[in-house]
Amino acid sequence: YAKRGGGNNYQYFTTRMSEIALQRLNLENHLRKAIELNELELHYQPQLDIGKGEFCALEALIRWKCQALGPLAPNDFIPVAEETGLIVNIGEWVLRQACQQAKKLRDDGVPLSRMAVNVSAIQFLHKGFPLLVKKILAETGLEPAVLELELTESVLVNEEEIVLNVLQSLKEIGVELAIDDFGTGYSSLSRLKSFPIDRLKIDRSFMHNIEQDPDNAAIVIAIIAMAESMNMKVIAEGVETDNQLSFLSKKRCTEAQGYLLSKPLPSAEIAKFLLKEFSSRVRAAM
Ligand code: C2E
Ligand code: MG
Ligand code: MG
Ligand code: MG
Repeated sequence: YAKRGGGNNYQYFTTRMSEIALQRLNLENHLRKAIELNELELHYQPQLDIGKGEFCALEALIRWKCQALGPLAPNDFIPVAEETGLIVNIGEWVLRQACQQAKKLRDDGVPLSRMAVNVSAIQFLHKGFPLLVKKILAETGLEPAVLELELTESVLVNEEEIVLNVLQSLKEIGVELAIDDFGTGYSSLSRLKSFPIDRLKIDRSFMHNIEQDPDNAAIVIAIIAMAESMNMKVIAEGVETDNQLSFLSKKRCTEAQGYLLSKPLPSAEIAKFLLKEFSSRVRAAM
């Protein structure tokens, strides 16, 4: 492409680069106002306990309905939020919103034993994060054990002592800790062993073609075995087909999440989903 541009390469690239920089700045400016404009929303994806056949957990996933730019997916704006530090405020909003929602559902008698919330590395390492978690739990009245924080492996590669300190403070509060997208990062297994982690979430890239692809199958089987031997729970994400679910079930993976089971739902639809699943289970048991 560069060759075809002839003598104007430099100009082409600088124009292109400033376009991208402008777009980014524009996004950043709108993102700065997203909370006060009430443009952020959480959707919730159900997680299945495969053995029990029960849905008892949800993962909160952020959505941004930007008036100016249209709807944006997290992958389009979370990286900008992280680079600009806006993730600290957005993350606090997410945590509060998810805890409020979980508390309300449980008070209404909806069967929900876990609410998982994604936490970015910057938010996790931000001073006073455990205190913030504690404050929000107290404020909302949600039992700490119901809240699960999903961290990525990029959190664990930071200075070991600092990471361990924060993780331990969070465990003292009583929340659960999960590693998201497990298998795609570079966290060493020896480190993983020394951290108080409750659950591994197998990255969805390994679900691809799992019955035919011997590499993916081997990786998934290894993660399940590793979780078991380290006394951690394990959940597969990105489950889209019956074949994937039956593979996981055969290999004794205990939990699953993915479009096959349910896409992320707006908050108004969760109670109905969880109650319907619950009552059909009760009927099946009778
Ligand atoms: P994640 O935490 O790994 O979340 C799972 C993503 O996979 C979600 O995308 C979900 O909609 C999607 N997904 C679920 N089931 C399937 C499936 O069967 N097939 C496929 N192809 N995809 C599936 P989403 O909502 O677009 O979020 C993308 C990522 O953005 C999340 O990945 C997470 O890393 C980040 N994110 C989302 N919400 C938040 C948040 O509140 N805070 C932070 N820090 N990050 C967030
Ligand atoms: Mg997640
Ligand atoms: Mg994930
Ligand atoms: Mg993922």
